[in-house]
Amino acid sequence: MTPTLVLALLLAGSAAPAPAPPAAAPAPPAFTVVLDPGHGGEKDGALSVEGRAEKDITLQIARLLRKKLEKQGARVVLTRTADVTVDLPRRAAIANAEEADLFVSLHLNSAPGGPGSPARGIETYFLSADATDASASAVAARENADRPRSDPTDAVGGILEDLEDQANLAESSRLAQAIHGALVHGTRAPDRGVKQAPFHVLNGARMAAVLLELGFVSHPVEGKELARPARQEAIAGSIAAGIAAWRRAGTADASPLQAPLQAPPQSPSASSVSR
Ligand SMILES: [Zn+2]
Repeated sequence: MTPTLVLALLLAGSAAPAPAPPAAAPAPPAFTVVLDPGHGGEKDGALSVEGRAEKDITLQIARLLRKKLEKQGARVVLTRTADVTVDLPRRAAIANAEEADLFVSLHLNSAPGGPGSPARGIETYFLSADATDASASAVAARENADRPRSDPTDAVGGILEDLEDQANLAESSRLAQAIHGALVHGTRAPDRGVKQAPFHVLNGARMAAVLLELGFVSHPVEGKELARPARQEAIAGSIAAGIAAWRRAGTADASPLQAPLQAPPQSPSASSVSR
C-alpha cells in the first residue's frame, strides 16, 4: 500500500459528514395548474339526491386536489376558494392571466331524469364546437346555463382559429385521456368515455383545458358517495395521478403536440375525403 493510498484511506475514514448545503432559494414551480370548482355563489349547479349542491362538492374536491398537486411541485390557483359567483369567461381568463400549463374544471353530472335516475360514472371533456353525441350536448347545455342571459355570444364562437388553438386542443385531448384513464382506474366508476362539447368555461383558455364530470349526483348511490370524504379523496388522488402521467408522457415525447386529436364526429375528417 502506497503512503498516498494510506493517507487517502485515513482521510476518508475520519472525514466528518459533509456540511449541509446552504439553504437554496425556493425552486420555481414545476408547473402551474388552475383548478376551477364548478358553479358557486348563486349558482348551485346540480343537486344531489340528499340535496347537496354540486358547487360545494366541487370546491371540496378542488381543495384536496390542490394539496396533491402541490406535492408534485405545482403552483396551484383556484378560480374560487369560497362560495362565490365567478362568471364563466372569468374562469378561463384567470388561467390565461396566471399563464397556467393546464386548466381543470371540476363538475358533477346530473341525469335528465333527475334524482333516482340510473345513470352513473365518469365523463371527461375537452372543447369542440360540435358535441360528441346528444348526451354530451345536454351536459354542455346544463353547464353553460350559468352564463348570464344578457350574454349574446356563441358558446364557442371563434374556436380553432389558429394553429395555437389546434396545438392547445391536441394537448387538451392528451390531458383528457390521461386524467380519464386514471379516474376510471382509481375510482372504479363506470367509464362513460372522453368526449367533446362546446363548453363556455373552456372557451378562450390558452392551454390544455379539460372539464371533468366526476359522477352523477342524481344517482341514488353515487350521489351520496360523492359527498363523502373517502370518495372525494379517491377522485382527487386519481386526477393528480392522471396529471402526473400527462406530464411524464409530455416530457418523454419529443413532440407532445402531435398526440392524436379526436375529430368531432359530425365533422367530416380529412381522411374520409376521397382523393
Ligand atoms: Zn357543473
